[in-house]
Amino acid sequence: MLNETTIAPLKSSFRGELIEQRDASYDMARKVYNAMIDRRPRLIARCGDVADVIAAVNFGRENNLVVSIRGGGHNAAGLGVCDDGLVIDLSRMNYVRVDPKKRTVLAGGGALWSDVDHATHAFGLAVPAGIISTTGVGGLTLGGGIGHLTRQCGLTIDNLLSVDVVLADGRFVTANAKDNPDLFWAIRGGGGNFGIVTSFLFKAHPIHTNYAGPMLWPMEDAADILHWYRGFITKAPNVFNGFFAFLTVPPGPPFPDHLHNKKMCGIVWCYTGPLKNAERVFNPIRKFKKPALDFVGPIPHPALQSMFDAIYPPGLQWYWKADFVRELKDAAIALHVKHGAMLPSMHSTMHLYPVNGKASAVKNTATPWSYRDAVWAAVMVGVDPDPANNEKISKWAKDYWTALHPYSAGGAYVNFMMDEGEDRIRATYGKNYDRLARIKKRYDPTNFFRVNQNIKPAK
Ligand SMILES: Cc1cc2nc3c(=O)[nH]c(=O)nc-3n(C[C@H](O)[C@H](O)[C@H](O)COP(=O)(O)OP(=O)(O)OC[C@H]3O[C@@H](n4cnc5c(N)ncnc54)[C@H](O)[C@@H]3O)c2cc1C
Repeated sequence: MLNETTIAPLKSSFRGELIEQRDASYDMARKVYNAMIDRRPRLIARCGDVADVIAAVNFGRENNLVVSIRGGGHNAAGLGVCDDGLVIDLSRMNYVRVDPKKRTVLAGGGALWSDVDHATHAFGLAVPAGIISTTGVGGLTLGGGIGHLTRQCGLTIDNLLSVDVVLADGRFVTANAKDNPDLFWAIRGGGGNFGIVTSFLFKAHPIHTNYAGPMLWPMEDAADILHWYRGFITKAPNVFNGFFAFLTVPPGPPFPDHLHNKKMCGIVWCYTGPLKNAERVFNPIRKFKKPALDFVGPIPHPALQSMFDAIYPPGLQWYWKADFVRELKDAAIALHVKHGAMLPSMHSTMHLYPVNGKASAVKNTATPWSYRDAVWAAVMVGVDPDPANNEKISKWAKDYWTALHPYSAGGAYVNFMMDEGEDRIRATYGKNYDRLARIKKRYDPTNFFRVNQNIKPAK
């Protein structure tokens, strides 16, 4: 049992904040981004620095507590928070330091992508991230990292140079190509299974202003657009990224009145080639079918990164299903069009994120990410503000996924999964699973870090 006496030694040296159930800030502190998750930890240790992280890990282990690691709190399955245990919350450790000469970026383990984008943009640099800037650097990176720059720069893990990690036994280590290379291999896709990453060192790219944004077409054109998009994105030069989406147009500015609440299909583009060529290279795309809405144009990178933040504030109900896809067969396109037309709420959506281009230049065994030969990571997300609609949005996502799963590559991107059990995790890591399990045994033999898409230590 935790009580004043057991917590006292931790309190005496802790620099951050220790939040207990009786504290006024407890209910806010235990909330995560997905409002479907409602967990009540015994203690939240909001760490101020690495020393706090070491103290919290030792405290959790010595008191036999279930421990979860919280970065940005975005995880679909709510894996940043746990019931009845200790949350090691890194949100205060959100510093970012850019080295413009070396083109590297050091980010604290609890930084958000908005922190990184803000800091790097001043130097005309960018690190490949996700498409919502309120997402945590920690969870997104450790799962792989897909976004607007995947085809140009690879996954986020392909741009990771080094990490500092607090291990389950409280030791602090650095992992990179030279030091602890097995740990460095494992954390690039293996999630928070191996320790708490207190800082990430990334390679940054000279990206400042892109030609980017959404193009939308009526649902009636969805089959034609998908057929065209399938051909385009499998062959396009790497300077083009574009993810396909089914969506409902939000009822407000900047969207024109006549499109409000209309279900549509679209592609969110990000072209990083020379701006002077952009209009010309987009001409054939616009000519193929004139978009009903065309917001594609020059845009500073952080503005693109945060373009959808306001549509998806924290506190909505989310249900996720996902798969990797190698080939988009005609029959699969027909099913996409059928289920896409049945979007159950304004916020619900389906995205096909390209994971080819630069990301596919890396071997399947070079990192735990086992689907380098896939072309897309597909995700069906039922989203709504009202918990009364949970059944409706979850059923839509499950039905959509069930219909398309036979056309998928087998596993799914770990960061797009809810709690789906061991078989699904094995399918996701494929041939890399056994190596991950051996490294897990070396660095976390008791499975202390198990509130995650869990890799069991090898026997
Ligand atoms: C609106 C939204 C949009 C998204 N868009 C994208 C996208 O475009 N691309 C993409 O790739 N993903 C995307 N995701 C998925 C996202 O990558 C995952 O939800 C990820 O887990 C979020 O990381 P976090 O740090 O915010 O999460 P948290 O809930 O804080 O943490 C999730 C898990 O990550 C681990 N973890 C986090 N930080 C650390 C750390 N410092 N050390 C060790 N372990 C840690 C822990 O195991 C924890 O359980 C999106 C999610 C949401 C909700």
